[in-house]
Amino acid sequence: MEDIFYGKSYKDTVGYKIVINNKRDKYHHFLGGDNWNLPECPLCKQSMHQIISLDLKDDRLSNFQGKQREELPLFSCLNCSMQWDDQFFKIDFISKRATIIQQKQVDKEQLDEEDRIAVPIPFLPTILKEFKKKDYPTSDEKYDDIFSDLGVEYFGRVLGKPVLAQGELNNKCCNCHEDMSFIALISGENFMEELEEKNIDLFFGELILYFSFCTKCEIVKVESQSI
Ligand SMILES: [Zn+2]
Ligand SMILES: [Zn+2]
Repeated sequence: MEDIFYGKSYKDTVGYKIVINNKRDKYHHFLGGDNWNLPECPLCKQSMHQIISLDLKDDRLSNFQGKQREELPLFSCLNCSMQWDDQFFKIDFISKRATIIQQKQVDKEQLDEEDRIAVPIPFLPTILKEFKKKDYPTSDEKYDDIFSDLGVEYFGRVLGKPVLAQGELNNKCCNCHEDMSFIALISGENFMEELEEKNIDLFFGELILYFSFCTKCEIVKVESQSI
């Protein structure tokens, strides 16, 4: 079990923390906004939440670069049960539009109105900060510490070997059935000072959303695990 959740192999793949930061950065990674035309949630009947958008000019994300791919959006509806099970979306990078290929969730539950996160999420610039030694779950203790830091010090993790809440990701592409590449994970519990200062509530559940990408099919998968 140790090898799945933590261990020495975790330090072999460099990763980055998504940090909210108002300072100017040469890359344009950001939280929120609505510059993408995202699908409507079939349950909530409103546009899905554009959560994080990654600037693909950043060569640290070279795995995802491709012709006419400027930006990679990470999104899902955060107001209902659709986020609890696997979702596959086709990305059209040229028209900045995404469509639903598959959503596996059959339970239909929506958050109470007062708990819903408004669309769009307010725009905030973010930066990608390379992991420090403590951010790699090389031991049981560090693994636990990462879960304490996630959503408090930072919003999510890009690249690196994904830290898992429940078990290994099942990131086979729904179209070509090959392994997708892990992009990022985002915490549903967010209590960062930077958000509180701006009165932004981004709590969407005791869960982590894992995003993977198939470069060949240009499909993003969202998989969720409860913490
Ligand atoms: Zn929804
Ligand atoms: Zn594929």
